[in-house]
Amino acid sequence: EHVGKADDALPTLSQVDALTGLLNRRAFDEKLRVEMEAARRENSPMTLILCDVDHFKLYNDKLGHVEGDACLQKVAALLRGTCRRPRDAAARYGGEEFTLILPGTPKSGAFTFGRAIVKAFQSAAIPHPGSASALHVTVSGGILTLEAGFDASTKPEEVTARADAALYVAKQRGRNRFFSSNLETDTATQ
Ligand code: GH3
Ligand code: MG
Ligand code: MG
Repeated sequence: EHVGKADDALPTLSQVDALTGLLNRRAFDEKLRVEMEAARRENSPMTLILCDVDHFKLYNDKLGHVEGDACLQKVAALLRGTCRRPRDAAARYGGEEFTLILPGTPKSGAFTFGRAIVKAFQSAAIPHPGSASALHVTVSGGILTLEAGFDASTKPEEVTARADAALYVAKQRGRNRFFSSNLETDTATQ
């Protein structure tokens, strides 16, 4: 560990995804566990967002893998840019899937966060030659908020699975949106 508080410590090389510079899957797993414990201790809410690039196979097919990798770097930078608080964390979950851990963030705040991500991709307007959802690169997301005082028996894998189910709903509803499991609505609807 680095000197100083664990929260503020810079990630070590083994915790970082080489392509994007975000936390890697292993570091995400650890961070989720630690932040769930902290949320329990502090009796505060915590949000997990799972994001997936829309029609990314088509992007690779049209532009090639090298451009695809460059796109993932831009996606990562946009997601990192939406994280404002020091304890917010962005990770590459795998492939073209990303996660955000937002400590102390309730369901309403998380929904606003989802909107901000959609807007950021709108503004960045990374051209997508084959997307059916928009002319630019978009992401869909599933939002799962653990309310303050959530059940102590809740497992990190459960939380991830619930965020993944919400992501699936966002895809089904037309992509380019974030679906909140708690609010049972999405950012393109509400
Ligand atoms: P959906 O909107 O349903 O998410 O469609 P999709 O095409 O994004 O989803 P699918 O899971 O079918 O394809 C994901 C694609 O992402 C497959 C692969 O071509 C691409 N991909 C995954 N990881 C990487 C990577 O590290 N680099 C590049 N260039 N492409 C990747
Ligand atoms: Mg995917
Ligand atoms: Mg995808």
